[in-house]
Amino acid sequence: MKRLTVEAAERLAIKFRAEAQLSRTEPISLYGVLLNKGILTVFKPMSANACGLSTMSRDKKNKYILINSSRSLGRQRFTIAHELYHLYYDENPEPHMCFEGNGTKSAKEADADMFASALLMPSDGLIACIPNEELRVGQISLATVMRLEQVYCVSHQAMCYRLKRLKLISEAQLQGLLDISVARTAQSFGYSTRIYDDGDGRKEVVGDFIAKAKVLLDAEKISEGHYQELNNLIADGEG
Ligand SMILES: [Zn+2]
Repeated sequence: MKRLTVEAAERLAIKFRAEAQLSRTEPISLYGVLLNKGILTVFKPMSANACGLSTMSRDKKNKYILINSSRSLGRQRFTIAHELYHLYYDENPEPHMCFEGNGTKSAKEADADMFASALLMPSDGLIACIPNEELRVGQISLATVMRLEQVYCVSHQAMCYRLKRLKLISEAQLQGLLDISVARTAQSFGYSTRIYDDGDGRKEVVGDFIAKAKVLLDAEKISEGHYQELNNLIADGEG
């Protein structure tokens, strides 16, 4: 299968943003995207190294995402963006569990990661957030890296690799940044560690599935019992 080039991944991310009425710089509200696109998304605790999965109906009208809520918030957001690639741009989507990259990913998984990275951390946005002086001397400070992570709500690792891909930091700088103690560093700058901490393992459903059922209930097109059944299905059925 043909691999996605770096440029193509950037173009797809820009196209996705444009279609979702988002600018080329702003941090993306994935909650809004999932709701607007009608993607039924279930957050629930899963096995430790699983990130999530996505699937859709044969006619591609109904799309679903499952996210491991035990992983960090940064990782959950990256996985949602990764799944959006499978749902919208994967030429041959097959239901599969997505795991964190460790250098042994299939080409398709690497493509989904590249898209996710470009979607969550738009180059125009990052550059606008970096002080001119740092851009001029080609030395992005640790303070700036940590701030970018807070602004775009992504893991430290994801931000470091993104900055490297955009040639904003060198290989040596990348290695130095990957070596830091992330939570302690964030705290030393006065930031919350909620992006990096393990997730709370919550069960949550994002989607207008129940809202649509409520409209049918109010119009007396379905019974209260049927409505409750749908609610229970959403609450427990994913386990
Ligand atoms: Zn995947």
